[in-house]
Amino acid sequence: MEAFDSAERRQAESSGRRATVIGAGIAGLAAALRLRRQGWDVVVVERAPSRRSSGYLVNLHGPGYAAAERLGLLRALTPRDIGFFTSVLVHADGREKLRIPAAVTEAAVGNRALSLFRGDVESALYDAVAEFADIRFGTTVRAITQTPGEVEVTLSDDTHLRTELLVGADGVHSRVRELVFGAESEYFVDLGHMVGAFPLETSPAHMPDGVGTTYIGPGRTAAVMNLGPGRSSAFFAYRCLDPDAELALGAAPALTRAFGDLGGGVADALRQLDAEPGTAYFDSVGQIVMDRWSQGRVVLLGDAAWCVTVFAGYGAALALDGADRLGTALAAHGDDIPAALDAWEATLRPEVTKRQALARKGISRFAPPSRAHVWAGELMLRAIQLPGIRGLVRRSIQRANN
Ligand SMILES: Cc1cc2nc3c(=O)[nH]c(=O)nc-3n(C[C@H](O)[C@H](O)[C@H](O)COP(=O)(O)OP(=O)(O)OC[C@H]3O[C@@H](n4cnc5c(N)ncnc54)[C@H](O)[C@@H]3O)c2cc1C
Repeated sequence: MEAFDSAERRQAESSGRRATVIGAGIAGLAAALRLRRQGWDVVVVERAPSRRSSGYLVNLHGPGYAAAERLGLLRALTPRDIGFFTSVLVHADGREKLRIPAAVTEAAVGNRALSLFRGDVESALYDAVAEFADIRFGTTVRAITQTPGEVEVTLSDDTHLRTELLVGADGVHSRVRELVFGAESEYFVDLGHMVGAFPLETSPAHMPDGVGTTYIGPGRTAAVMNLGPGRSSAFFAYRCLDPDAELALGAAPALTRAFGDLGGGVADALRQLDAEPGTAYFDSVGQIVMDRWSQGRVVLLGDAAWCVTVFAGYGAALALDGADRLGTALAAHGDDIPAALDAWEATLRPEVTKRQALARKGISRFAPPSRAHVWAGELMLRAIQLPGIRGLVRRSIQRANN
C-alpha cells in the first residue's frame, strides 16, 4: 500500500511516544496516520459504533490535493474519484436553463483534483492506519486533565489513558473543545443557513444520466447528481432563521418543506431520503472561531478547531493539510510539544482565516439574498463559458489556492 510502504513500516517502529486522537473523521485519521509514521503509538477514540460510510461529495484540489499526495493517499483515492461531470442549471420545475460541459470545469480546475465521497476519503485513511493504530469505536471522552508532562484522558468505558499529546478531531460540535476550552457557544458563529447532503442508492428519476442539475433561487440551492448507482448524491442549502427548529424537525421533513415544490430529480432525491433518513448529513452552518487551537499538550484539529464550513468547500483539504503540518511541526520540536503546537498554528492560521472569509463571502452563491443576486450569478455562469473568461476563472482559482 502506497500510504505505508516497507521503508515507512521500519521507520514507524514505536518510538514509545503516545498520542490519543479523539474522532476518526478525515482530520483524526490523517493525524493518526502522520503520527504513526513518525513512530508514535496512537489510540483513536471514535463515538460512532463503526466506520461511517459514504456521506457527501467533497472536492480536493490545490493544497488539499497536495496534502493527500504528501500523505500518500492518491493511489487509494484516485480509483474512487467521481471525476468531472456536466452541470446543468435548471428552473424550479427542472427544465434546463444553462449547461456547463465537464470539459469547461476541468479546464478551470485543472487535473490535480479529486471529487470523492467523504466516506471514501475516510476509508482510504482508515485502511492506511488501522493495522498500526488502536482504534476504539463506540467510545467517547468523559474527562481530560493535564500536567506539564502528560494528559490523562478518561473514556466513556472508564478506561484511563496517559498520553503525551491529545488531538481533538471530533468535529464542529467537539467535546474535547468543550472540556478543555469552554462551551461551544463561545466559539460557534452561526451563519444562518442549513445544509443537507446525502448519497442516493439508486439513480434519481426524471434526470438525464451523467449530469448534475442545480437549482439556485432566492435563499436556497438544490443540487442532484445523477452519476449512476453508488455514485449519485444530493445537496441542499437554505437560509434559515431558526436552525434548532429545523434540526428538531429532522432532515427529511425539513428538506421536503424547503424544497418539496421543485421538479427534476429533487422529488426522487427527497423520497430516497425519506426511505433512508440515516444516510443524511443535516446541520446548521456555523464557523468555529478561536484565538488559540492548543492548550498545553491538547490540540484541536479540523472542524473542531476552525470549521470553515461547506461554503468554503475546503474543510477536508484543511483537515488533511493541518494533520500533515502537525506531523512536521512535532518532528521539528522534539519533546517540546507546546512549542511544536505554537509553530504549527502559526503556519496554518493565515490559510484558515482566508478560507473562513471566503466562506462568508460565498454564502450568497448558495443562498442568494434576492432575485437580482440569482440573475447576477447566472450571468457569471454564462460568462464562464466564454474562452477569455475561462482563463480568468482558472487564474482566480489558482490565486485562491496559493
Ligand atoms: C455538504 C458538505 C460538503 C463539503 N464539501 C467539501 C469540499 O468539497 N471540499 C472540502 O475540502 N471540504 C468540504 N466539506 C467540509 C469537510 O467535509 C469537513 O470540513 C471535514 O470532513 C471535517 O473533518 P473532521 O475530521 O474535522 O470532522 P468530522 O468529519 O466531523 O469528523 C469528526 C469525527 O469525530 C467523531 N466524534 C464526534 N464527537 C465525538 C466524541 N465526543 N467522541 C468521539 N468521537 C467523536 C465523529 O463521529 C466523526 O467521526 C464539506 C462539508 C459538507 C457538510
